[in-house]
Amino acid sequence: MPITDKSFVLVFNTGSSSVKFTLFRIEDETVLATGMVERIGLSGTQLFFSNHQGNQLKRAVPVQNAREAVLLIIQQLTDPVQGKLPNAEALAGIGHRVVHGGDQIHQSVIIDESIKKIIQDCAALAPLHNPPNLEGIEACQSIFPDLPQVAVFDTAFHASLPEHAFLYGLPYHLYRDGKIRRYGFHGTSHAYVSQEAAKHLRKPLRELKLITCHLGNGSSITAVKYGQSIDTSMGFTPLEGTIMGTRCGSIDPAMVMHLLRHHRMTVDQIDHLLNHESGFQGLAGVGSSDVRDVIAAMDEGNQQAKAAIHLFVYQIRKYIGAYVAAMNGLDALVFTAGIGENSARIRELICNGGDGLRKLGIELDTHKNDGALGINAEIQSTKSPVKLLIIPTNETLEIARQTIALLLSL
Ligand code: ADP
Repeated sequence: MPITDKSFVLVFNTGSSSVKFTLFRIEDETVLATGMVERIGLSGTQLFFSNHQGNQLKRAVPVQNAREAVLLIIQQLTDPVQGKLPNAEALAGIGHRVVHGGDQIHQSVIIDESIKKIIQDCAALAPLHNPPNLEGIEACQSIFPDLPQVAVFDTAFHASLPEHAFLYGLPYHLYRDGKIRRYGFHGTSHAYVSQEAAKHLRKPLRELKLITCHLGNGSSITAVKYGQSIDTSMGFTPLEGTIMGTRCGSIDPAMVMHLLRHHRMTVDQIDHLLNHESGFQGLAGVGSSDVRDVIAAMDEGNQQAKAAIHLFVYQIRKYIGAYVAAMNGLDALVFTAGIGENSARIRELICNGGDGLRKLGIELDTHKNDGALGINAEIQSTKSPVKLLIIPTNETLEIARQTIALLLSL
């Protein structure tokens, strides 16, 4: 399609009370402007905006819904002084982050009525995310009815999971009729860092066996074999897997019945407990879900904090072992997101802690690890056949890339 005079794409991430945006120049993937409208529909609604020349602003705005937020963002982006978009006609398209595409979505797609129906149908699987994601799409469609819009799904990268990795041991009809299966999340991040790892290693992704560790507030680990996700630690919801900032990760499901029957908790209380009061928040006992606080407490001798860190690290080591087995080998282990990119301590504990992972071909060089600045750094020792990489994630850029690729294919 002719995008020669349409040189920009806009990426939106619409949440329940915020609309985040990033404007890219297509030619060189430069971020020209970024920001968000937050506290939409609440008191104290604000616009944050910054452009690539360092102009920043923050101001109170009278915005009640996603449509008003999008209109305001376009107004700001086309502002003659600070805006970086000459006019709305210069947009080639808009990319939207969408959390859940269920089992029907395998890749990014141009949005039409059938795609909107899928997003709506998946609302039961992602009640906090899909409805606002759809609201952002509809807001943009009402303002730009003729502009192509693309949906980039968090679950899409994991659509390649084989049945033996996505089924649970429940009656089959719950999968067939009830759609209960492993979906996996953070797919855009796992896809992005896999591609960046392949570029860094100068090898085609289709020849590589990777394990990507997205360790942030939410954490997930994925086995990427020859470019495809073949297993991932998050499941039917983002609650499964390792312990996280406030989420419990995998637990014996019988505990839920136990809490209902013997602790007289309600379903909503248990939901809150597992999603918001667990993980580092509940386990470490330092009143924080931030790994930096938990490590600081551990270093001051707090045994509970130490136990939480060691549980997290142990779980990740077990996933690594399982995924090496699942792929029968490993070329590179990739660390990304807030903890993966920034915490040399956690990376070291994962690779070299306990008895180490040398039998799996993994050994970290502590000097390289401590000095790594997080920009596609290699931190393995000379004895480690497996490459250990720190690759900063960039989900927004990945959404822009997938949007551009689809626009070009039109
Ligand atoms: P989200 O999953 O919300 O996108 P991030 O990927 O930004 O989160 O990760 C945020 C988390 O990263 C913080 O809660 C904190 O635990 C962790 N983090 C950030 N910097 C460091 C650091 N230097 N050391 C340890 N942990 C860090």
